[in-house]
Amino acid sequence: MSSILRIALQKSGRLSEDSYQLFKECGIRFDYGTGKLKSVSSNFPAEFLFLRDDDIPGYVEDGVADLGIVGENVAVESARNIDTVHRLGFSKCRLSLAIPRGNEWNGIQDLSGKNIATSYPLILGNYLRDQNISADIHVISGSVEIAPGIGLAEAICDIVSSGSTLLSNGLKEVEVIFRSEAILIARSTLETEKQSLLDKLLFRIKAVQAAKN
Ligand code: ATP
Ligand code: ZN
Repeated sequence: MSSILRIALQKSGRLSEDSYQLFKECGIRFDYGTGKLKSVSSNFPAEFLFLRDDDIPGYVEDGVADLGIVGENVAVESARNIDTVHRLGFSKCRLSLAIPRGNEWNGIQDLSGKNIATSYPLILGNYLRDQNISADIHVISGSVEIAPGIGLAEAICDIVSSGSTLLSNGLKEVEVIFRSEAILIARSTLETEKQSLLDKLLFRIKAVQAAKN
């Protein structure tokens, strides 16, 4: 049986459109947006799975998918054993610390002994350890930016792209701790046939990127 690459993409969200567009520009056709969970390409040995982004690193590690596109923030936070194959340059954002707008900020030491709400305990924990700061990390899965307003935390660590969400919640960005973009991830050991399909795909992706620069 000839092999086929299984590629996990975000079903719908901030990565989806650019991910679909990338394959289109690579000349790889498949249907999406029909509510289907998967779709086989009509002109490349690939099958696409449409999933929530948070589930993609795990599926790639477990071999349910061979490749996936996720934000680097999600890949790193997942702590999964997966390879970063290529940086894709879209869905750029940063993970930042923010505090109430009226509060003074003299530097990261201000967070010593404070409560910080985040959905990224691993990345934040590593950062604080590097900075020699001991603080309490409060894990919440969504709407992190409301935490200071309801007295749950004195600071937050969250994804920022424009800063308008912070502003509307009375917060100010004080430190960028991680910069992210979409990345192509792969299972750490691919069979020879799948590896050569991945090489073909990478060749096309690089050509598309080169044409844009
Ligand atoms: P899903 O329903 O698939 O779980 P989600 O709501 O968790 O989606 P999105 O908001 O679609 O995720 O964001 C996906 C990725 O896009 C983020 O992990 C991040 O890498 C990137 N991103 C770029 N800009 C932003 C932003 N302003 N807010 C959040 N994520 C952003
Ligand atoms: Zn998600």
